[in-house]
Amino acid sequence: MSEGSLLDHALVRLDEAAVHLAIDADVIEKLKYARETTKVRLMIRMDDGSRKSFLAWRCRYDDTRGPTKGGIRFHPDATADEVETLAFWMTFKCAVMNLPYGGGKGAVQVDPRKLSKAELERLSRAYIQAFSRIIGPDRDIPAPDVYTNSMIMGWMADEYAQIVGEAAPAVITGKPLALGGSLGRGDATARGGYYLVRHLATDLGLGQPLKVAVQGFGNAGQHIARLLAADGHTIVAVSDSEGAVHAPAGLDVHALMTAKAQGRSVASTAGSHGHERLAAEKLVGVDCDVLVPSALENMIHEGNAGTVRAKLILELANGPVTAEADAILARNSVIVLPDILANAGGVTVSYFEWVQNRQGYYWTLEEIHERLRVIMEREGRAIWTTAREKGVSVRTAAYVHALNRLAEAIEAHGTQN
Ligand code: GLU
Repeated sequence: MSEGSLLDHALVRLDEAAVHLAIDADVIEKLKYARETTKVRLMIRMDDGSRKSFLAWRCRYDDTRGPTKGGIRFHPDATADEVETLAFWMTFKCAVMNLPYGGGKGAVQVDPRKLSKAELERLSRAYIQAFSRIIGPDRDIPAPDVYTNSMIMGWMADEYAQIVGEAAPAVITGKPLALGGSLGRGDATARGGYYLVRHLATDLGLGQPLKVAVQGFGNAGQHIARLLAADGHTIVAVSDSEGAVHAPAGLDVHALMTAKAQGRSVASTAGSHGHERLAAEKLVGVDCDVLVPSALENMIHEGNAGTVRAKLILELANGPVTAEADAILARNSVIVLPDILANAGGVTVSYFEWVQNRQGYYWTLEEIHERLRVIMEREGRAIWTTAREKGVSVRTAAYVHALNRLAEAIEAHGTQN
């Protein structure tokens, strides 16, 4: 990727959308910078009695449309720039789905795989102690992200309740069911993408069954493989941070999920179930119809975008395709369903969880799935139509939609905000 911060690169997409709209320059000026980013150092006691410190951030990027919303990532490479960029994407994602939220994000610079469960709990609680005045059910609402999960959200919700002295489940989403979590939150990110592809399949010119390659086999990657395989599609290749496997006739998704549940890499299944080992960097260029990046940012870049053989890229990760790669993919007629639409199922079911917490009445799994499907199809269809009408990429169309909603809210607030 060329020079500049991650946020500078993300803002290119805002500029690309702005040219298709007659919006006030003030709106763009407001959306170019994070409203506030707080950095702290968390100190925790390790199991051996020593103390260790970790850098942590919480960014509230923009709250024009409502309380800021977005996950907390635990990753050794986390930076302030990455947190702000992810919070920028959350701002647009919530606007794309018309959720009454702004965008936020948090992170701790840590490799959680190197911590014991007790250390992880102390770190999660320390995060909430540090940010308890920033977050709140009407202010800023965290959720899971890369390497965080419902167990961690449970500890965080418990810590917040202890600090404020009352139950406040709506402060955080992605909680365990026992603490006010929602049915269907676990696979919501993948399921949203799945509904979107199913709904647009004919428009996208996709045949049946599909050959699918999945990059990254965490929460989103595992569930999309499972959902698509259950519909008779063939998962031809998957990768994780330690390796990749492929099988042109189809991988055994159950065997892959079992390996992950046992703490092993997908690569450990090579040699059984007809799985063959594949160099992880080859996954992007595998022969398939749909490529599903489900890991981290910038995985499809100038250097490998030309090798993509898929007809469609479904971005379940945030920011997996660089702006340079977008141009190469467009030249090769590869359609990209962008992150702020494709992976928005996660935050949408987070919104359902927040609504259920506030009303104290819980929906059935069927209700959750149906409401998610309706929103994904409605926003997906509208964005697809805009893309066709304006002759722009689906990404630009998604930004146009979000920007319209953000501009309307910014203007409605008046000139003193
Ligand atoms: N971390 C997820 C995302 O990037 C979910 C955020 C949320 O549920 O608030 O969309």
